[in-house]
Amino acid sequence: MTRPLRVAVVGAGPAGVYAADILTKSDADVQIDLFEKLPAPYGLVRYGVAPDHPRIKGIVTALQRVLDKPSVRFFGNVEYGVDLKLDDLRQFYDAVIFSTGASTDRPLDLPGIDLPGSYGAADFVSWYDGHPDVPRTWPLTAKSVAVLGVGNVALDVARILAKTADELLTTEIPPNVHEGLASSPVTDVHVFGRRGPAQAKFTPLELRELDHSPNVEVIVHAEGIEFDEASMHAIRTNKQVEMIVKTLQEWAIRDVGDRPRRLHLHFLEAPVEVLGTDHVTGLRTETQELTGDGNVRGTGVYTDWDVQAVYRAVGYLSTQLPDIPFDHVKGTIPHVAGRVLDLDEAPIPGVYTTGWIKRGPIGLIGHTKGDALETITSLLEDAESLPRSSASADAVVEFLTQRGVPFVTNEGWQRLDQHEVALGAAQGRDRVKVVPRDEMTSICRG
Ligand SMILES: Cc1cc2nc3c(=O)[nH]c(=O)nc-3n(C[C@H](O)[C@H](O)[C@H](O)COP(=O)(O)OP(=O)(O)OC[C@H]3O[C@@H](n4cnc5c(N)ncnc54)[C@H](O)[C@@H]3O)c2cc1C
Repeated sequence: MTRPLRVAVVGAGPAGVYAADILTKSDADVQIDLFEKLPAPYGLVRYGVAPDHPRIKGIVTALQRVLDKPSVRFFGNVEYGVDLKLDDLRQFYDAVIFSTGASTDRPLDLPGIDLPGSYGAADFVSWYDGHPDVPRTWPLTAKSVAVLGVGNVALDVARILAKTADELLTTEIPPNVHEGLASSPVTDVHVFGRRGPAQAKFTPLELRELDHSPNVEVIVHAEGIEFDEASMHAIRTNKQVEMIVKTLQEWAIRDVGDRPRRLHLHFLEAPVEVLGTDHVTGLRTETQELTGDGNVRGTGVYTDWDVQAVYRAVGYLSTQLPDIPFDHVKGTIPHVAGRVLDLDEAPIPGVYTTGWIKRGPIGLIGHTKGDALETITSLLEDAESLPRSSASADAVVEFLTQRGVPFVTNEGWQRLDQHEVALGAAQGRDRVKVVPRDEMTSICRG
């Protein structure tokens, strides 16, 4: 009798879990092991999606069903490149899929960007979402804050900074995050976009949500509400752009209310320098004008904004993995239809990739399903010709045990999950997250 095809998936974010799901639903007889460096699965669904987006976080219910399948095993707290290498995976599996996502900030080349008080959005997001590998405290001392970028992550960061801590107390935020946010003296959060309203990258839903807080006045600065030919074309042909522009125009002409905190949206203001000598004391922007094709040029008019902290939300970046080729320009693993390419651009037999590390850090959770489908289609096409591992299915368990890796199984993760749900129930919340890694691991391991 032939044994199942054994596949290792490295990274249990949505891309990895969807890859496992699609494999289990195929006609192939498969056994899948999911390796995840954190004790908890789900990647940026758990550690990226904002805590006040419970409906999106609810995707974990569907993802958990995949982890519960008999042909899927979860090995949390196991880091590729530290606890096991490519050679180890090749020894135990017929195919390996890398779905390690993206977790750091893309750098922004701006004078003063390294000053204390200037932060990357990814670090702040990790903090407020209770990631175990970042410090427990966050310096929230600024009264006025600048957020650079006009994508959904910029709006998440601006919204979390502007809302009061108590508004977030219905969510899963851990106690240290509530405490930190409660100490924040912030009154004004300024979001700056280099281009015009029709070029904004956020979605209409995220934009409108800004206005839902009883404590935050959203102010659109009318000077930046400009449109060129390309903008008008985008408004006419793209429903999403039309909705965004309509909302911004309405907000730009309405009266400003008296909610205690203000979230300002500025368009056509390009950050040119973070000001300060030993700490951020301001931000200099240059007013831009549209050039007809949706691009912008500087007008030579500069404004200094009195802010004491700057958050750059200009994109996430993936990290290179040991023994796996990496395209440093795109920040992705080079591939063709999910088949990882070596330096000579030939597919490496049995090695695949999916999700943000394959495509780059853009798009929603749902988009990782399409990534996974393409990759699994390639893998299944290759399945017959893959060199088969001669190790037993349990060899990897012995390997990790012998190395003293305190790995977490699905059963263990379920213990942590139930523990967090119970912590939440005691306060009338859906969940309260456990943050320290050793506490997470010890709850998982009973
Ligand atoms: C701040 C933010 C908010 C977002 N909000 C939304 C939203 O509201 N709605 C929406 O649809 N999408 C949202 N997204 C997008 C969504 O999170 C991504 O599309 C999706 O998570 C990408 O999935 P992935 O599996 O490729 O990567 P990830 O989610 O990053 O998962 C990768 C996994 O690999 C693990 N890993 C990394 N390195 C290793 C290693 N060496 N060994 C083992 N494991 C490793 C990581 O710990 C992680 O669990 C948001 C993204 C961000 C950044």
